[in-house]
Amino acid sequence: TACGANSSNAGDSGDDSSSGAPAPAGGGANGKVGVILPETATSARWEAFDKPMLQSALAAQGFSSDIQNAQGDNQKFASLADGFISQGVKVLIIAPSDPAVGAQIESKAKKAGIPVIDYDRPSLGGSADYYVSFDNEKVGELQAQGLADALKAKKGAAVVQIEGAPTDNNATLFGDGHDKVLNPLYASGQLTKVQKQPINDWDPQVGGQTFEQIFSRAGGKVDGVVAANDELAGAVITVLKKNGLNGKVPVTGQDSTSAGLQAILRGDQLLTIFKPIKEEAENAAKLAGALAKNDTAAADKIATGKLHDPKNNRDLKSVLLTPQLITVNDVKKVVDQGYVKASEVCVGD
Ligand code: BGC
Repeated sequence: TACGANSSNAGDSGDDSSSGAPAPAGGGANGKVGVILPETATSARWEAFDKPMLQSALAAQGFSSDIQNAQGDNQKFASLADGFISQGVKVLIIAPSDPAVGAQIESKAKKAGIPVIDYDRPSLGGSADYYVSFDNEKVGELQAQGLADALKAKKGAAVVQIEGAPTDNNATLFGDGHDKVLNPLYASGQLTKVQKQPINDWDPQVGGQTFEQIFSRAGGKVDGVVAANDELAGAVITVLKKNGLNGKVPVTGQDSTSAGLQAILRGDQLLTIFKPIKEEAENAAKLAGALAKNDTAAADKIATGKLHDPKNNRDLKSVLLTPQLITVNDVKKVVDQGYVKASEVCVGD
């Protein structure tokens, strides 16, 4: 396991980018890139992984960076963007909570001649130059298939789907992936659908309350839960624990946060998803490097995928990376890659 003697120093063997190490010497010669991340409470990933990894990836491209977090506040998001635009940053990288806010920022930036990269979350209806993310429908498929496999022996098992924010296109795609796997199993009677419920703003507190209501309406007859990420999984597990069902009812997650990995090692959470955020950050930084030089040919070579934006009927040139399933046997992989330290996930027993 991740907590065995052989992996006691695994957290230190990864590269420095995960620990927020200072930028390599010489960083900054190519000017400044402004980055705005969406929230803190909805996922530990943004501060724990994205922030330090973007900082070091941008430094490796010769940029200095200013990486801010809007803390779920749309007004703050917009004013941070205004600030970056008036400072004349070389490139703007944004992951908005509200795609409409993102789209507004993009049109302002365009007028100021500043290229914009949509990071992880797309601003549908906007005018970003490029998009970097993961195959998000695949994330949903991996979660749902993992749960279906765990419930194989329980014919007709009752499943609740606790989904992400309805305004986040990623959450829509995770949900599509869930449905793709689960709907045929509901149709055949192998599984029973209790409810599919989106959670506004990905708010874990709302997620817990909502699950509790669904659970009591179902008379406590819930056999498995698709929770869209580790924070929602944690909220669901808290409710299950109150009812003595933690570890008995499998729950999915996403992001390979240290809390999620701990819950897996405790046996309370079935799985999480590992998304190589270091690669996401590096691709965003490389695109920024090409855009700052006005080299669209180089950028097009990086962004060979596409995301269809139904809001303005265009294909957004994209880098879409591959997510991986993490169950109890794979926790060590996340530790070995330097995302979390063994000492962070191997607590108590
Ligand atoms: C991200 C997930 C994250 C969620 C909540 C999504 O857009 O892709 O990794 O868990 O937002 O912050």
